[in-house]
Amino acid sequence: MAEPGNLRIVPLVDQRARSIPVSSLAPAPHVSATGGANLVDRHGRPLRDLRISVTDRCNFRCSYCMPKDVFDKDYQYLPQTALLNFEEITRLTRQFVAQGVQKIRLTGGEPLLRKNLEILVAQLAALRTPEGQPLDLTLTTNGSLLAKKARALKEAGLQRVTVSLDGLDDAVFRRMNDVDFPVTDVLRGIEAAQAVGLGPIKVNMVVKRGTNEHEILPMARHFKGTGIVLRFIEYMDVGATNGWRMDEVMPSADVVRLLQTEWPLLALEHANRGETAQRWGYATPAGRHDTAAGEVGVISSVTQAFCGDCNRARLSTEGQLYLCLFASQGYDLRSLLRDGSLDDQLGTAIRQVWHQRSDQYSALRSALPSDNLPGVRRVEMSYIGG
Ligand code: SAM
Ligand code: SF4
Ligand code: SF4
Repeated sequence: MAEPGNLRIVPLVDQRARSIPVSSLAPAPHVSATGGANLVDRHGRPLRDLRISVTDRCNFRCSYCMPKDVFDKDYQYLPQTALLNFEEITRLTRQFVAQGVQKIRLTGGEPLLRKNLEILVAQLAALRTPEGQPLDLTLTTNGSLLAKKARALKEAGLQRVTVSLDGLDDAVFRRMNDVDFPVTDVLRGIEAAQAVGLGPIKVNMVVKRGTNEHEILPMARHFKGTGIVLRFIEYMDVGATNGWRMDEVMPSADVVRLLQTEWPLLALEHANRGETAQRWGYATPAGRHDTAAGEVGVISSVTQAFCGDCNRARLSTEGQLYLCLFASQGYDLRSLLRDGSLDDQLGTAIRQVWHQRSDQYSALRSALPSDNLPGVRRVEMSYIGG
């Protein structure tokens, strides 16, 4: 939603047009197309997590992601022919898995807008790691179509979902999605996902100071004890259209302090390396983790950089490989696919790109004054996937 008085930054250059041909890179040493689990980037980080954007379109207009005044009826979305088709996505994913990827997250835009998505899910669910293990296959959605699609997705092999929900108050939620979408329909989607076993479900709430911080406690009350893990995300300076301002960020430390006014919380261990959320368990009076009450998470992308363990790559809707959420350029894998490259050439290209990766935007940002941030010509999150 456009907020009067805020300075809106409109992108002058369409970053989607900028991509780097993989052929311009120096070869990685010891390049081999298989056995890639030992592949690391320049900071020693392995490649484990691939986020795949399956559409750049969305039926919501969250102001922090696809503000209405930029993503209006004249906005040029990608044409269908530019999008990777399901066979192309699956073929590329197989090569990513050979290079160490264990976790796949389908995202967008709104991934459930992609027609017949369950066919892609079934293809990805059939892939196996070099050790013969199935992938951790998940999807992030705004929940608007989840009630309708949960069963088909589960039957196709999706393991779990993350649902974005920024508040329970209907007026607040309608204002934040900016298309007047009711909160009850998202809650119904979450229930449907839970009923078919798409869990453990996570719910992501972006906290924007001055907009929805008063929804933090009601959201925590609602999801406590349900088995659903609620995570509070700091509002990030992704893309170039949301008019981000530091004073609208509510630091995770403040969120945790607020939660502690109502419940004692206990810091929990990270579930695994590369995990972005800090976990907090509801505590018993004896100071133990009350597992029935569950846990919440905070994702401090702005105030506490987690680049050191970042093992995520992003595949854009049109097959560009991005190494950081804040990157301004991607590596063109689609042209390799469509130029007739063999599978081992795709694997080699992925190794080359990852091997020379040095991205650590958030860590660098923490060290810079806010008026001198790197990478201002950034792509939109709806294009590379959150
Ligand atoms: N449409 C789906 C959804 O909303 O869940 C998937 C794509 S969306 C880009 C993925 C995630 O990015 C969502 O959880 C959303 O809240 C988050 N996100 C988008 N813009 C953000 C921003 N500026 N700061 C923090 N999180 C953001
Ligand atoms: Fe759409 Fe998700 Fe972005 Fe909201 S956060 S506009 S639902 S892509
Ligand atoms: Fe990873 Fe880039 Fe985020 Fe750092 S800023 S955690 S490198 S995506």
